[in-house]
Amino acid sequence: RTMAARTVARMSPRLLPAISQRTFMSSLEDYGTHVFKGSVADAYLAKQGLPAGLLDDPSWTSTSADKVAAAVQEWANDKGASVYTHWFQPMGSTEVRLGMSGQVHNAMFAFGKDGKVKFGEFKGKELLKGETDGSSYPSGGMRATHTAGGYTVLDPSSPIFLRGDTIYIPTVFVSFYGDALDEKTPLLRAMQAVSNEGVRLLKHLGVSAAAVYPNIGLEQEFFLIPREAFYKRPDLQLTGRSVMGKLAPRGQEMCDHYMAPPNQLAMACMREIQHECFMLGIPLKTRHREVAPNQYEFAPLFGIATTQIDQNLMVMQIANEVAARHDMACLFQEKPFMGINGSGKHNNFSLGTDTGVNLLNVGQIAKASGGPEAFAVIMSAIVSAVDTYGDLMRMAIASPGNDFRLGACEAPPAIVSTYLGDDITDYLDGFRKSKSLKPYVPNTKEINLGVKSIAPFTVPAEDRNRTSPFPYGGHRFEFRAVGSSQNVSMVNTVLCTIFADAFSRVSTEIEAGKKATDVAAALLDKHWKVIFNGNGYSEEWPVEAGKRGVWRIDSGVEAMARLSAPENIALFEKMGVLSEKECIARTAVMHEHYFGTVEMEALTMVDMIKQHVLPSIKKAEQCPKAVEAGLAAVEAGIKKIHAADSEYTKAQVARELRLETMVTCREACDKAEETVPADLWTLATYKELLFLDANQGAEAFYE
Ligand code: ADP
Ligand code: MG
Repeated sequence: RTMAARTVARMSPRLLPAISQRTFMSSLEDYGTHVFKGSVADAYLAKQGLPAGLLDDPSWTSTSADKVAAAVQEWANDKGASVYTHWFQPMGSTEVRLGMSGQVHNAMFAFGKDGKVKFGEFKGKELLKGETDGSSYPSGGMRATHTAGGYTVLDPSSPIFLRGDTIYIPTVFVSFYGDALDEKTPLLRAMQAVSNEGVRLLKHLGVSAAAVYPNIGLEQEFFLIPREAFYKRPDLQLTGRSVMGKLAPRGQEMCDHYMAPPNQLAMACMREIQHECFMLGIPLKTRHREVAPNQYEFAPLFGIATTQIDQNLMVMQIANEVAARHDMACLFQEKPFMGINGSGKHNNFSLGTDTGVNLLNVGQIAKASGGPEAFAVIMSAIVSAVDTYGDLMRMAIASPGNDFRLGACEAPPAIVSTYLGDDITDYLDGFRKSKSLKPYVPNTKEINLGVKSIAPFTVPAEDRNRTSPFPYGGHRFEFRAVGSSQNVSMVNTVLCTIFADAFSRVSTEIEAGKKATDVAAALLDKHWKVIFNGNGYSEEWPVEAGKRGVWRIDSGVEAMARLSAPENIALFEKMGVLSEKECIARTAVMHEHYFGTVEMEALTMVDMIKQHVLPSIKKAEQCPKAVEAGLAAVEAGIKKIHAADSEYTKAQVARELRLETMVTCREACDKAEETVPADLWTLATYKELLFLDANQGAEAFYE
């Protein structure tokens, strides 16, 4: 770089070095070098006399922990790292800028008496287990401040990775009594349940497997906004969403953002995020613009649920950090701006065996089982689970942010149904009526464009559906209603648990002498109502859904309460996923998180009105009455939350404050923004937040 360019870079953070095309290409050689698995791990394990592939079997934790620790130590030192942390996911962790994951960094070296540091103190013990004071984390009453001990224990299903000078060891986080205090422990238990029950059912269907795994792929949506404007929005800074703000004269009405050329500043930032993720072996494959201005998406190649979730948390953390380096702020909240689309995190889900058979892939499962029955049985079980436990699926996506999104015609509604497509629906309908099965052959159709140079081509006969919360897309289901800021452990805990339960019920009937296909046909008859292939955004669907009697829970607060419903506690206990105590505690944590979030939003709104909106109105010599009335109502609402006597009622009161009182107050503020002269308005506007200049930073890209 020339001297002049360096000077410019220093003066204008907008021009800070973006990774050049060549650097990006050569960095692909670094893919996965910062994650301790595969050939990277094997090379260091070999030096300790350990076999390649050792880490694939979790029994290494009891046979070779000290040697693995030594291998990790050497790898760390080669990469310039000297610190390690047990890395865990406290209950209720969502992306609220901090607080996604827990970490305490410890030196891998000792401070010697000779005044020098000494390596070699990092042993199996340190690698496997940690004890920490976690009393400040939400525990839903499972732990008092004076019984603060929390334990972290290595999760062998997700690899150790390295960032900067620190080795990250994915762990679970449990109390002195073994109660789960985190998001990962229930997930691991649920994965075990679906594996056991999956293997059991597959055996009846003629497929032998040793294990069944949930494979997921998480499409992550987010906003990238200019940091300068972000700093002029206390609401975005503190809560991730704007509690006021007049719509810009232009939003997404031209439908001109989705998949449009990325803004060059955002592009530079996203390439750097990808680069960092590649080092950690996070396979971010797809990137594109999303529907709203300044909104983007990353999607990785799918993989086993625990690792994918760990990686997703890192993607969010890295995106926050890299965005700051590029003078932008990354927003993961579900609904940062009113009037334009919010963000989701589509949870693509399938189940695969250790032998590589995808249970949801019609061809693969037919081949493995030697006939069409297995697919029909598995699909019937899944349909029955969605119908029976739709309330738990709704619970798993309940969050303050998602309360604004579900049902706003930008995300599927708060009604739980599944879309199977007309083809499969007809096929299963024929089966349940006749109780006999032909092989299922996915239809295709030919499209001829009438252009000589473009040969006619074939496509699946089935279209896709984006208005269903849980559509089947061939080979996988896609839980589309999940919120963007969520740690999706609970989502996958629920999916694994309800499918395990459904598989278990089918197996029990088969073991009692019934024919698998008869059991499946009866299940379909009973649960057919949950299949809906129409438009989930239409006005007719809620009415129709009401008639059918499928799960519909509009309020996130009520959805959360379903976690402690007796039949759901019974399910989690039966599957060995959560105890009654853990269900109740987790419900309390969710409610606490809900009203805590609303309280922060309301307090921020109060500050913004007092420090910005009212002074601006007064300077402009306009009437402050409506805003003052709104302010008083919001302040009264905050008092009402404090006065309520349980987490549940506090959350209910908070929801009303947020969706009614704060909305009315906001209207008055936005009205004022319309008429106060721009130079007297001290908060960043939607225009400033949502429209980056497309040409800015172009030099950096071509550097
Ligand atoms: P679409 O827009 O069609 O949903 P994307 O490519 O944006 O497609 O994202 C699809 C996501 O689903 C990716 O993360 C992909 O790896 C994942 N995926 C694909 N097949 C499976 C599968 N069998 N099981 C789980 N996830 C899958
Ligand atoms: Mg998708």
